[in-house]
Amino acid sequence: MGIVIAVDGPAGSGKGTITKLVAEQLNLVNIDTGAMYRCVALECINKNIKETEINKIEEVLKNIEIQLKKENDKQVVLLNGENVTDKIRTREIDIAASKFSAIKQVRNSITPMQRAMAENKNIIMEGRDIGTVVFPSADVKIFLDCSSEEKARRRHKQNLERGIESNFEEIFAEIERRNKLDSEREIAPLVKAEDAILVDSTNMTIEEVTQKIIKIIKEKVNI
Ligand code: C5P
Repeated sequence: MGIVIAVDGPAGSGKGTITKLVAEQLNLVNIDTGAMYRCVALECINKNIKETEINKIEEVLKNIEIQLKKENDKQVVLLNGENVTDKIRTREIDIAASKFSAIKQVRNSITPMQRAMAENKNIIMEGRDIGTVVFPSADVKIFLDCSSEEKARRRHKQNLERGIESNFEEIFAEIERRNKLDSEREIAPLVKAEDAILVDSTNMTIEEVTQKIIKIIKEKVNI
């Protein structure tokens, strides 16, 4: 096992942006676990499967192949060989991923895939349950958070940059609903691990958060 850095936190806390930058600067492999739950949701939607149809979901899980790759410096997501990098970033998938990720059978198949992806590598893995369930003995655990307004503001800006239609009030309500669902679910809820270091990014720039996390990592591991 190489070095494992776990970064957990709610939607909109900036995990994706920050882990990418920390990974580049410390030469770590960046693993976005949310992309995997998004792939499950996309595959089920494509096959017209609802979150109540557990047998059908189990069939999907048996055959699903998810690959997270880096191509020309860009993180690429392949679902059964198809490039779905952009398809999994819609609002429909935002909401569906939260529903499918709460299903026990889904987590039971995705969690081992995540552990396997980390084998023999120095990794930074971001998600909701990395420090609590996937790697409870991670070398460093960070819990990234910020105010609700800031989460919505960032996602709204990100949507506009990506050309996705966006309304601040709607985004605010949607993020709140999704984070509530993730925090209150029975299995692997979004919760700060007891030994995780809390970083509140509300009034910090991307560069400040990145440097703060790099400092925390360097204090804990020889990298
Ligand atoms: O991080 P991202 O917003 O892409 O994650 C999409 C959804 O996947 C989250 O809302 C959450 O429901 C689920 N997820 C999870 N556990 C993780 C990562 C993501 O349940 N480790």
